[in-house]
Amino acid sequence: MNQLIELKRVTTKKDKPDLSSLGFGKHFTDHMFVMEYDKEKGWHDPRITPYEPLVLDPAAAVFHYGQAIFEGLKAYRTSDNRVLLFRPSKNIHRLNVSSERMSMPPLDEELVLEAVQQLIDLERDWIPTKEGTSLYIRPFVIATESCLGVKPALQYKFMIILSPVGAYYANQLQPVRIFVEEDYVRAVRGGVGAVKTGGNYAASLQAQLKAEKLGYDQVLWLDGVEKKYVEEVGSMNIFFKIKGEVFTPALNGSILGGITRDSVIEMLRSWNVPVHERRITIQEVYEAYQRGEIEEVFGTGTAAVISPVGELSWNDERMIINNFETGELSMKIYQEMTDIQLGRIPDPYQWTVEV
Ligand SMILES: *Cc1c(COP(=O)(O)O)cnc(C)c1O
Repeated sequence: MNQLIELKRVTTKKDKPDLSSLGFGKHFTDHMFVMEYDKEKGWHDPRITPYEPLVLDPAAAVFHYGQAIFEGLKAYRTSDNRVLLFRPSKNIHRLNVSSERMSMPPLDEELVLEAVQQLIDLERDWIPTKEGTSLYIRPFVIATESCLGVKPALQYKFMIILSPVGAYYANQLQPVRIFVEEDYVRAVRGGVGAVKTGGNYAASLQAQLKAEKLGYDQVLWLDGVEKKYVEEVGSMNIFFKIKGEVFTPALNGSILGGITRDSVIEMLRSWNVPVHERRITIQEVYEAYQRGEIEEVFGTGTAAVISPVGELSWNDERMIINNFETGELSMKIYQEMTDIQLGRIPDPYQWTVEV
């Protein structure tokens, strides 16, 4: 489908950043995609324009009441110079799940996919070639209506910006140390934990700072009511391998349903590894640990794909997982997933979309 997306090119292109010091989200490409929404016209004026700052009224609703949602996915360059996206329709659909919960207008998912593809195609030169690097895609929607009344705004802006990002791991998978948070909570059922909205991140920063001060990399969140059930890690979902079977918290309304999570589950099922999505208490994790039954723990998310957990600290108990080494299954999933994303092996799941 070829929707009408207007194109206004830059006159001079930026210099590309040094590939060895890309980091995450520090550099942005020459162009961006923009369209606006209002009550009368719906979503309109889809266009690709030079990347530039926005002008917004200080009373724009997003600054005051937080109607803002986002997505995150990546474009990968294969060794034979093709460009692949990983399950982009899933991200675009999730954007609409988020918009509904935040009382924002739904997007035309086909148009957004077309916009992602056209923007990526235009910015092909920005997709870094070095192993592990990629072009991060950040679609987002903000409420732009200037009105201090508390109500769903009547005007919005949807944008897509692109950022070349460095490899998550310098060479091999690096296990992380996780602090199980007992005081702060990230989300509650009925709230917005299951949607990608900025406020969830704002609410998580204090706990992240606390964990870092104590020498940990990230926080493992427990449920917001009883602080008994395991939810997720920072911006990743979490998996436990116990006696040959894999467990991950069921999507209960307060956990973000990761696309990497979904892909890992499908991959494990295709390998006939038993996977259970259910409620998991931190107590049972600890007991399984004491019995020596925990084989692997890992986080899943677009940024790292797989992030092995080497240590879990809960109250005063420190659980060292698999001698602080990357487990065999974690490694195998990481290898298979990145091989598919980089087009190194056939994609039996039909997850990748070529641009
Ligand atoms: C985005 C996100 C994830 C991971 O989702 P993916 O689709 O796998 O990248 C997990 N938890 C939170 C809170 C997130 O925002």
